[in-house]
Amino acid sequence: MQTSLPTDLLETPLGREADEILRNCVHCGFCNATCPTYQLTGDELDGPRGRIYQIKQVLEGQAATSTTQLHLDRCLTCRACETTCPSGVDYHRLLDTGRALVEQAVPRPLLERAKRRLLRLLLPYPSRFTPVLRMGQLLRPVLPASLKQQVPARQAVNTARPRQAHARTVLLLDGCVQPALAPQINHATLRVLDALGISALRERNSGCCGAVSYHLNASEEAKAFMRRNIDAWWPAIEQGAEAIVVTASGCAPMVKDYGHVLSADAAYADKARRVSELAKDISEVVSAAFRREAFTQAGGAARIAFHSPCTLQHGQRISGIVEDMLAQLGFTLTAVANAHLCCGSAGTYSILQPELSTALRDNKLASLQGNQPDMIATANIGCLMHMSGHADVPVRHWIELLDPLIPGNTGT
Ligand code: SF4
Ligand code: SF4
Repeated sequence: MQTSLPTDLLETPLGREADEILRNCVHCGFCNATCPTYQLTGDELDGPRGRIYQIKQVLEGQAATSTTQLHLDRCLTCRACETTCPSGVDYHRLLDTGRALVEQAVPRPLLERAKRRLLRLLLPYPSRFTPVLRMGQLLRPVLPASLKQQVPARQAVNTARPRQAHARTVLLLDGCVQPALAPQINHATLRVLDALGISALRERNSGCCGAVSYHLNASEEAKAFMRRNIDAWWPAIEQGAEAIVVTASGCAPMVKDYGHVLSADAAYADKARRVSELAKDISEVVSAAFRREAFTQAGGAARIAFHSPCTLQHGQRISGIVEDMLAQLGFTLTAVANAHLCCGSAGTYSILQPELSTALRDNKLASLQGNQPDMIATANIGCLMHMSGHADVPVRHWIELLDPLIPGNTGT
């Protein structure tokens, strides 16, 4: 694609990066075929090719409008288009730049600003989010059915900790909302890693990966979360922690991107690059250490529909390894149609774009439940929460399926 970005913009790293991405796009439109929002609305402006064109216009100096903002907001950042693109267009980086420019140029209505601000003030802070959730859980019995579906019931959790210390050590990112919504995921992770000969450390001063702020166009706030995590992890990294393990596939791409986001920060660039090199999705660490004999066989060969989150299959390009481990353990994986499509969760998307999000969730659940699974397994807390109140079968993180198969363990 030919571009004519202004010279002063081309003198900045962001401008040069955007120009290079635009020039890679040959405007073929293959990406539209796998774009969930284009499939729903049929509008070229809601597809990746149309969004790339809108961002190009803004970068070239055309005024951004609320219509531009609407079509960029509707993007799930699912990155299915990147997986499909034959030219390797780095769409999400261009989208980040485009969104930031449009955010500066187009003021949002007051209510929308307040909603976004509230999400940023609440979600990344467990000390704020947890009491709000607990209050909702307390009131759950008297909530109307529609609200009740949004508030997960509090569950009993097996908090048994591994007793052994292993030579192999990793850091575990606790995350922000996951410990309150589904604490069993990280507890199960500690035990599964232990069964595979790995000790996991949790640094109390670490927290939100920064993705909530980053995807709400608050990049400086996001960078502050990233720096805080780097500071919290650095002593353990210096002492030989071999990986930073992330159990939410929605957070892993963000940590893997610290090096890029903080590349211009003289004080943190090198450390951020090292952290990104060490960042691993839990599936990568468990599959690399996986030994069939560390687990007993699954009882009853439960039928599992695996929902591979976009952040796993497109964001991290990890495909098939969770399914392979589950199959080795005796689970039956049911076929899932349109497995490449987003479930509509996409971070705060389900709150900010409820209509598109609901349509995508209903389509996804129909695909997942089409072959009568006993359970849906996934890899991201966002997808799990988005689907679980509406699914006919339980929705769990896949690591929870391995936990009860550790000899002598009763599971979560
Ligand atoms: S992003 Fe890739 S698939 Fe989409 S129009 Fe450009 S080159 Fe074609
Ligand atoms: S990231 Fe997803 S929703 Fe956005 S343009 Fe690409 S395929 Fe469409």
